[in-house]
Amino acid sequence: MTEPVLRVEQVESFYGKIQALRGIDIEVAPGQIIAVLGSNGAGKTTTLKTISGLVRAQVGRIHFDGEDITRLPPHEIARKGVVHVPEGRHILKGLSVQENLELGSFTVRDPAVRRERMADVFERFPILSERRHQDGSLLSGGEQQMLALGRALMHGPRVLLLDEPSMGLAPKLVTQTMRIVKQLNEAGTTILLVEQNVRLALKIAHYAYVLENGEIHNQGKASALAEDESIVQAYLGA
Ligand code: ATP
Repeated sequence: MTEPVLRVEQVESFYGKIQALRGIDIEVAPGQIIAVLGSNGAGKTTTLKTISGLVRAQVGRIHFDGEDITRLPPHEIARKGVVHVPEGRHILKGLSVQENLELGSFTVRDPAVRRERMADVFERFPILSERRHQDGSLLSGGEQQMLALGRALMHGPRVLLLDEPSMGLAPKLVTQTMRIVKQLNEAGTTILLVEQNVRLALKIAHYAYVLENGEIHNQGKASALAEDESIVQAYLGA
């Protein structure tokens, strides 16, 4: 098997005394989309936050490219190429589309690389180029999601941690967002995807983990999980 680019080993995370993760193991092979599924409060967001350093793992280890990143601060983790796109998009009001994108390049020191990345983002998302001088918060929900993804791309991610990218979007835009996620993956970015739309997530993912109460309850190839009767019953609303 290919060496995982990201390896989460026996990770336990807490909010004060509340234990949110109870010994999570996740392996992300390079070039894959790995879905993280589970009901509300299962620990999906906490898993992403722990990987990106926003929440500290109190037990266990996280390795990126063979390097232990468990204790690194979030900006160092982002600089190494593990980039978190949190739930809710977090587009800053009062800043233009372009300025919102520039915020994503704080980890990039070389101005030439920043310019090149911005040109790439505008090529991938022409609507952002058209609206580059408009206030980012005035974009539609789908456009704001593109801006959030574009801002993450400014870091030059090797692994994207996407938290519910389709949240709050109309059905057509949900499908479009999943298509964008797939295209980013095909262009070479490895993706760990938390997604409430389990059916679509399993369609684009290679492998999936199902979390329950802070533990890995189930895992397998996405195509196999999509046909697993218990998963279908629990998460696909069948
Ligand atoms: P959802 O789909 O609702 O976002 P989730 O699977 O992402 O759920 P988490 O947000 O990771 O779940 O939450 C895991 C557990 O940690 C839950 O019991 C939740 O109540 C708790 N929790 C999350 N954030 C905090 C916080 N800031 N303070 C205290 N407890 C928290």
